[in-house]
Amino acid sequence: MIYKKSPEEIVIMGEAGRILVDTLNRLEEALKPGTTTRRLDAIAEESIRSAGASPSFKGYRGFPASICASPNDVIVHGIPNDDPLEEGDIVSLDVGVYYKSFHADSAWTFPVGDVGPETEELLKATEASLDAAVAECRPGNRLGDVGAAVEDTATARGFSVVREYVGHGVGRALHEEPQIPNYGPRGRREVLGAGMTLAIEPMVNAGGAGTKTLEDGWTVVTADGSLSAHFEHTVAITSDGNEVVTRRNGH
Ligand code: MG
Ligand code: MG
Repeated sequence: MIYKKSPEEIVIMGEAGRILVDTLNRLEEALKPGTTTRRLDAIAEESIRSAGASPSFKGYRGFPASICASPNDVIVHGIPNDDPLEEGDIVSLDVGVYYKSFHADSAWTFPVGDVGPETEELLKATEASLDAAVAECRPGNRLGDVGAAVEDTATARGFSVVREYVGHGVGRALHEEPQIPNYGPRGRREVLGAGMTLAIEPMVNAGGAGTKTLEDGWTVVTADGSLSAHFEHTVAITSDGNEVVTRRNGH
């Protein structure tokens, strides 16, 4: 069952989105070589709670922190820790905000200081794949069109797309139907309609698409140790297109 939201409910999700964006901006500002992801987690929790909201992830199925922090070869679901980030690292910061009974969900992969040109290209390609997916979000298109846009954009640049983890509907629950794979084919799966609210989240690897989960039961890494990037927006389908409720500084 896909729950469609009213325009008033989408306005509330936009408010949650603004709290989330403000939090991501604070995280980006604090992100320097030597910073730990535990410190970033504390900044995020303070930012979210001081806005009258709560962190969606804290306690979700026992997750121990307010954000997922996934450096380098970690694809998603990294647990914040005391390891200092180093110049040249990348780190995906995934934030969920629960506000007035609705969630917003967004992730961004940031460079720590200067990163090499190949790493820069991975980040650009993954963000471009998210943009291409959002461009497919309008009534009458299908989820296969959204996933194919990610797959085509990332693979054209020589990267691979993770298949075991997917985007999702989002709203009163953090994870709602439908599942949103980051691959096609076009013209298949559910038809998009106004009021659907979707968390679209390409996960793109520099090497192969394979994944494995570490013993903590959360941390998902690339099977081959290659770098991975992750970008996510919460997108509402409107009568004539879409509204990205987690739009951040033009991204
Ligand atoms: Mg997320
Ligand atoms: Mg998500």
